[in-house]
Order: sequence, then structure tokens, then C-alpha cells
Amino acid sequence: MAKIGEVVGSAAAIAKGMSITLKELFQPTITEAYPDGPARIEARFRGSHILQRDENGLEKCVACFLCAAACPANCIYIEAAENTAEERYSGSERYAKVYNIDYNRCIFCGYCVEACPTDAITHGHGFESASYNTSTLVMRKEQMLAPMPGSKIGPPVAAPRLPEGGGRPSQSNAPPAGAEPILPTGTHK
Ligand code: SF4
Ligand code: SF4
Repeated sequence: MAKIGEVVGSAAAIAKGMSITLKELFQPTITEAYPDGPARIEARFRGSHILQRDENGLEKCVACFLCAAACPANCIYIEAAENTAEERYSGSERYAKVYNIDYNRCIFCGYCVEACPTDAITHGHGFESASYNTSTLVMRKEQMLAPMPGSKIGPPVAAPRLPEGGGRPSQSNAPPAGAEPILPTGTHK
């Protein structure tokens, strides 16, 4: 009698296991095809930063240095400059002439975003920033600045950094034309 009970118990356990297998068989696949397909990013993912513009296209950053002060990794480098009547970049008196983030050191903690009084810096969803050359991981303002309002260009995504000849055609190690030279982190003007 005990043997029959064991057989029935085992059969029930197998049937239960197989029912789960059968049920999953008809569910849509959730396998990520990245890098052949786009990666699925959660809305709150903290990727590479975006320097935002206001509705008039002016840079929201007013070069107050609060983000740099809040950064525990000391990886934000800013040089402030005054706006003039002829050359206006932000809606305030000052703007960030140079704004670099050293992604060799950034830990994506989001403290800079929380510290910013003007919502000028936010996290985007860029994550393909691995590199064989660490000097390419210092992102300049020009690489992080949001496109002008109405522009059809999407938000900036930190350019993937691969050795010359490697990676997909869109990948580049070259700084954008007219970019400021990379300056050392840890000192603020
Ligand atoms: S995310 Fe954190 S570590 Fe990275 S720049 Fe901002 S404050 Fe610094
Ligand atoms: S990003 Fe924000 S906190 Fe940082 S300097 Fe600009 S305005 Fe200040």
C-alpha cells in the first residue's frame, strides 16, 4: 500500500512540474537578443548623463558646481564662464564653458542629479561605454548636451568606445569637432 502511495505521489509531482513547463511553453519569449536587437532598459535606469536644455534651447546648467561638490567620485570637472549679450548659452549669468565627466570614476550614484538646482543634469539610458582606452571615457559637454528642442536627433548616448577597426560603423573614439580639450578632474575653476 505504501508503494502505491509513493507511485501516486511521484506521478502527481511529475504532473505538477510538467504543467508548469506546458504553461510556459505558450508564453511569449522574454529572451533578450542584445546586441543583435535593442536592449530593454527600465525607465529608472541610470545611464550616461544628459545635460538638458530649457524650452528655448538654452543650456539649463548655470555652472554652480553643486553637482561637482556632491559627486563622491570627484569625477565632474567644470569651467564656468559669463554669458554676454552677444553670446548667451544659459538663462542665467553663468554657463559651463567646460563640463566633463570622467566615466572611469563615475559610479552612477545619481548624487549629481539630485544636487542640481536647475534639473540640468539627468541620467540617460546610455550604457555602451566600455573601452580599451580609458582616456576616451572622459565625456565632454558637447557629447552630453541634449539636442535643441524640435530637433529630430535623439538624446545623446555615450558613444561606445572600441579599439580602432572594432565594433559597429557608428562607433567612434574621435571627439566632436570644436570640442574643448580634456582637462584633469579634481580641480574646479
Ligand atoms: S553619478 Fe555619482 S559618481 Fe557619477 S558623476 Fe554623478 S555624482 Fe559623480
Ligand atoms: S549641472 Fe546643475 S548642479 Fe551642476 S553646475 Fe550645472 S546647474 Fe550646477
